[in-house]
Amino acid sequence: MSQVSKATGDIISGATRLSAKNLRLVLGDGDQTVTALNDVSLSIAAGEFVAVVGPSGSGKSSLLAVCGGLRSPTSGSVLIGGVDLTSLPERARTQLRSTKIGFVFQQSNLVSSLSAIDQLLLMVHVAGRSPTVADRDRARALLAGVGLDARRDRRPGQLSGGENQRVGIARALMNAPEILLVDEPTSMLDHNRGAEIVDLLARQTKEHSVGTLMVTHDPTMLGVASRVLQMDDGKFRAT
Ligand code: ADP
Ligand code: MG
Repeated sequence: MSQVSKATGDIISGATRLSAKNLRLVLGDGDQTVTALNDVSLSIAAGEFVAVVGPSGSGKSSLLAVCGGLRSPTSGSVLIGGVDLTSLPERARTQLRSTKIGFVFQQSNLVSSLSAIDQLLLMVHVAGRSPTVADRDRARALLAGVGLDARRDRRPGQLSGGENQRVGIARALMNAPEILLVDEPTSMLDHNRGAEIVDLLARQTKEHSVGTLMVTHDPTMLGVASRVLQMDDGKFRAT
């Protein structure tokens, strides 16, 4: 299955989840500008787990922010499921973000008063719907998939850091996104818990057929990635 992007006329494979082209992001103003992204292109297929590694300040978070529509690039395009995020008006971009993109952050950013299952159901509200019985079943299945079936009624304060990170992953998958954008998911965890989270992300990527873009500064977390890209000074280093 393929389709033609209205924005660029490009033929896009049905299996391409994310296609970023020639991204530039210049931050600051006057003579104080920083080129956070300097002509970055990247394509991620369904089921592919791409890791971006690079030192602090190399542009990793900027890449995620632009790919997730949280920041507009100075130039270049980001296609998600064939739709060019950068050409959408703010409202449509917000809608696309809440339905097609799952974010997993460094800290799980959960709502402290909500149980694990309600964190997931909240994502349905964010997407503009009221949760149905089917949504509740999906939330339960997702929590079971991250090993938390027995803990679905616990609030963040009643779960460990690694468990909360698992809730965060299940939550990111709730609206069946095209892509998962993951920023330093292991930095708050010890090595073994961190390795478990990255393994889990790799498995969930395949199982849910999403394209995953994970950035990390920890090179020990790269073993399970389908592809590793090295970022330096806002560019991918040739490998
Ligand atoms: P990383 O996630 O790899 O540490 P970032 O994407 O956060 O890198 O930052 C890339 C570059 O952009 C750095 O030089 C950083 O100082 C700069 N930068 C990030 N955010 C801003 C901002 N809001 N204003 C100005 N410069 C920024
Ligand atoms: Mg960062």
